[in-house]
Amino acid sequence: MRTLADLNAREKRVLVRVDYNVPLKDGRVADATRIRASLPTLERLLGEDAALVLMSHLGRPKGVDPAFSLAPVAEALAELLGREVRFVPSLPSSEETAEAVRAARPGDVLLLENVRFEPGEKKNDPELARAYARLGEAFVLDAFGSAHREHASVVGVARELPSYAGLLMEKEVKALGRLLHHPAHPYWVVLGGAKVSDKIGVIESLLPKVDGMAIGGAMAFTFIKAAGWEVGASLVEDDKLGLALRLMDRARELDKPLLLPSDVVAAREIREDAETRVVPADAVPEGWMGLDIGPRTREAFASALAGACTVFWNGPMGVFETPPFDAGTLAVAEAIAALDAYTVVGGGDSVAAVNRLGYADRFSHVSTGGGASLEFLERGTLPGIEVLGGLSPEEVAP
Ligand code: ADP
Ligand code: MG
Repeated sequence: MRTLADLNAREKRVLVRVDYNVPLKDGRVADATRIRASLPTLERLLGEDAALVLMSHLGRPKGVDPAFSLAPVAEALAELLGREVRFVPSLPSSEETAEAVRAARPGDVLLLENVRFEPGEKKNDPELARAYARLGEAFVLDAFGSAHREHASVVGVARELPSYAGLLMEKEVKALGRLLHHPAHPYWVVLGGAKVSDKIGVIESLLPKVDGMAIGGAMAFTFIKAAGWEVGASLVEDDKLGLALRLMDRARELDKPLLLPSDVVAAREIREDAETRVVPADAVPEGWMGLDIGPRTREAFASALAGACTVFWNGPMGVFETPPFDAGTLAVAEAIAALDAYTVVGGGDSVAAVNRLGYADRFSHVSTGGGASLEFLERGTLPGIEVLGGLSPEEVAP
């Protein structure tokens, strides 16, 4: 993979694809983690007197929609970078944008408007990719969180310009590569979240490599129901029951423990003041939903993890947005943070939980990519890595 070490950015105009898909609240950036993660690359390029033209997507707008403008991000970035950031409100492919970019001098930082305002962005329209390419003399991809997308601002433009991985891309690939290619054992994976279907690929690819997996969150109920138990009104993917059975068989064949919850916290509605009951995971009463792992499960998961040398965690153990259904997720975060091990957390919601606890520093790596980190663990590469030259055997070696 070509990196910044291969780029002489001196006084060049460098187009940088960042991942500023951040949560907004009342027109301001609510969590700047992803902006902060881009600073090393920006500072490095500014140190070479490059002019920076930054682009990103934000949310899932349908066409131009001011609610998804990157303008608030420009303000947050200026503050974190300690420099002026010029926001360019026109469409990234427009003549106005091209003009603003032509006026940029070494050391200037421009942030373009949301690339998803462009109808050709997600279709990877080659015409749009060429319009982006005219905005820089070199392209740096630092949006790890988008590197699994074959979109015009990720892979399309990279084909049109000399292109390189930014420092965040490099860091993510190295950290996640360790989970794939040379993990220290015992190696445990903890999965949760809403849907089994999002995580099938990663379960299949990691099962042979790990010493065990612990599964919580709503996805556990698809396994529990597949095994023939009562899950009440818990969230289940009925079309994935066969698949869940196959995964359990596969784990048995490989002799890998696949831990499921033994007890769950159930309620009839998702509300802070809802009446709750701790019930066996295989006997959730009719009309009740399992909304978190129970206290016995928290202990069982923590003792399975004790002594692990590598842990990857993706997906909350319950509806952690609504206390008291956050307790299982917090307990797992605590158990992993306390380990003397190589620990990685990925996934928007699980990372939010870690940040809420202030535990980011107690993990070896907090990935900025949800879908991207899972797809990388599944396939060992991503479209955004391939377009930068792909990974050599040395890059994946211990
Ligand atoms: P991540 O973003 O970390 O990859 P996911 O997006 O897969 O995680 O899943 C997060 C969502 O799963 C959260 O919104 C959470 O409320 C939901 N969830 C977790 N456990 C349950 C459950 N038992 N019932 C319903 N929803 C759940
Ligand atoms: Mg999520």
